[in-house]
Amino acid sequence: MSSETIYVELTDWIKRVHALGTVGELLGWDEQVNLPPGAAEQRAGQQAALAGAQHAAASDPRLGEWLTALEKNVAALSDDQRAVVKNARRDYDRATKLPAEFVRDKAVQSSRGYHAWAKARAADDFAGYAPVLAQNLDFAKREAVYLGWQGREYDYMIDQFDPGMTAAVIGRLFAELKGELVPLVRQIAASPVKPQAGALKGFPVEGQLAFLREVTERIGFDYARGRIDVSLHPFCTGTGSDVRMTTRFSVDEPLRSLFGAIHETGHGMYEQGLPASQLGTALGINAGMAVHESQSRLWENQVGRSRGFWRFFEPRFRALFPTQTAAISSDELYLAINTVAPTLIRVESDEVTYNLHIILRFELEKKLFTGELAVKDLPAAWRAAAQELLGLTPPNDREGVLQDVHWSGGAFGYFPSYCLGNMLAAQLWYRALALRPALEEEFARGDFTWLLGWLRENIHTQGRRFDALTLARRVTGEELSPRHLVRYLRERYGPLYGGKLEG
Ligand code: ZN
Repeated sequence: MSSETIYVELTDWIKRVHALGTVGELLGWDEQVNLPPGAAEQRAGQQAALAGAQHAAASDPRLGEWLTALEKNVAALSDDQRAVVKNARRDYDRATKLPAEFVRDKAVQSSRGYHAWAKARAADDFAGYAPVLAQNLDFAKREAVYLGWQGREYDYMIDQFDPGMTAAVIGRLFAELKGELVPLVRQIAASPVKPQAGALKGFPVEGQLAFLREVTERIGFDYARGRIDVSLHPFCTGTGSDVRMTTRFSVDEPLRSLFGAIHETGHGMYEQGLPASQLGTALGINAGMAVHESQSRLWENQVGRSRGFWRFFEPRFRALFPTQTAAISSDELYLAINTVAPTLIRVESDEVTYNLHIILRFELEKKLFTGELAVKDLPAAWRAAAQELLGLTPPNDREGVLQDVHWSGGAFGYFPSYCLGNMLAAQLWYRALALRPALEEEFARGDFTWLLGWLRENIHTQGRRFDALTLARRVTGEELSPRHLVRYLRERYGPLYGGKLEG
């Protein structure tokens, strides 16, 4: 068979494996949005059956043969084809190099970990959870070794979410960011300007839904190829022409639902912008979590918290909620939209402090993998880091080391992508502004088409051809750097909280 024929066989197969995966995502979405409470066990059986079929397809020996044949004659492949083969090899190795018994044990461990965490968090009992967390860590390290990452186990964990990223690169970027951010957060916290907490009250859910639907549609989410529903924890799943977002509503926190929805819209527009004919291959899947997060954060923060955006949407907001907004001035509303207040809880934190929460987790994770930090010493290390970075000490472990679900299921190496995404979002923003200086004036007219078009062309349609660092370099002309994020935070929050916020 010619390389071209083999390549077609390979990509057809990969697309089928991917299609099975998207069915699983749809079942997962349904579980969180629609599933009757009595159907959980039946759904678990469906998911397990599907996962088995998907794994069988992903580890089919023919895939291995096609890959080997194509890799023998790389010169016959185009750059795009090479990217597809490289990513397919990565997936195939992950599907075939782990012993079946290990995969089974790990799935059991992951479920046990989640329940142990939930119980420990409710009871504020880290000691009861520590042995399970230590086992999770052990599973993660063993998996890395099976896949040939011995001595670089934490890099393996990071690479799963952000292909090509390493702890060394992240460590350098985060150290630079930390040096600038810690004093910036202190300055804002010391400012006499304080947003009025709880000034926005009594916003009916129907009105909130109408407003966020208008906002998300206007910025570019295609409702012919996606939808939004309500779930306990907001998320975005699906790809191509079937993207499912969720949000949740609270009558006294309209901004939280709105910004959550704008965030998920950023994720959703990225998935909608992937090349439809290539879904599943490296040309039609996202470039990793950091790039994904750059898309959600760019729309949520650089766009959604800008003056231009609110010049257009504030009259709409007031028209929908005349009594609720009557006593709030435009400046007060804008300050509420851009509230900065250090908190111990990551998911409640503002966009400035958020990054410090991530740096804290990265530093601890890295030490867990090198062995510098033992699991039993985590709570104390967490408290010390929270004091250093946030200027706050958790009074208990529920508001400290037990607050996040990620490690309970073995998801180490995931946190850094949130902060890398923030850096990339700011870097993309300034590049976009350099190319299109009147961008915010366009927002003020309700026109977001140029920005989405630019992202479509430079990020979305690129799929996974490039890793996050290469993509940053290609699109912005320079290496990924935290200085754009620092500049953005100073420019956005300086005028609001007084002074220029020099670091
Ligand atoms: Zn996100």
